[in-house]
This record gives sequence, C-alpha cells and structure tokens, in this order.
Amino acid sequence: MSIVRLMTCDTAVEANLIKGHLKNEGIEAFITNENFSNLMPHYSRIMNSGIQIMISDMDYNKASDILELDVKHEPICPNCQSTNIKFSLGKHKIRKIFTIFMSLFIFTPINNLKSVCKCRDCKTEF
Ligand SMILES: [Zn+2]
Repeated sequence: MSIVRLMTCDTAVEANLIKGHLKNEGIEAFITNENFSNLMPHYSRIMNSGIQIMISDMDYNKASDILELDVKHEPICPNCQSTNIKFSLGKHKIRKIFTIFMSLFIFTPINNLKSVCKCRDCKTEF
C-alpha cells in the first residue's frame, strides 16, 4: 500500500469538498499543500504545487469512478466528444505573453496562467 495523488485542485474549498465527498463514500483522503497554496496563490500549479488530494493506491480506481475522473488523463471535447485536442494560451494571448515576460524580468510569477484546451474539430475552447 502506498499513497498516491488523486488530483490537484485550484482552491482549498474545492479540495475539502472533494475530500468530504470521498469520506462519505468510505475513502480516507488527506490534503497537502493547502497552507502553501493559500499563502502563495500565484505559485499554484507551478512546479507541481497546488492543493493535492492524496489517497491510498488501493482506493484510486474507486475514487476515480466516484469523481468520474478520466483515468487516461486524455482531454475530451465537451461539445463533440472528440479527442483531437490542442493546448493553447486561449484568449488575450498578447497579455499572457507580456505577463510571462514580466514574470521572467522580476523573477517572480505574477499570475497563474492556465492553458486552454481547444478542439481542432469544432473549435470549442474549454
Ligand atoms: Zn469538439
């Protein structure tokens, strides 16, 4: 038996709601990086930080089924169910590139930039 990461959340509220949902289903879970992510939110999801929900590896498949996680981690378009997906910066690309440049210039991340998935078939961003 070992401890594995089930998923990474953006907020402590989301992580605690999922932890409570798992506990109601009989799965023990604990949360890591909660304090760090609350104190330094601009580092969230950078270098694998973020609020992580940890569970036993024996409960991983059951928890994935309960939360309906895609175990293959392959993004699927919510509009047409296509797997022909590309990652992009989404809207406001110039602003995001400027933010990345400024972050490098002052050696501190300014904002948490999330990539956007874009379906190549129906052009839906999600
Ligand atoms: Zn699509």
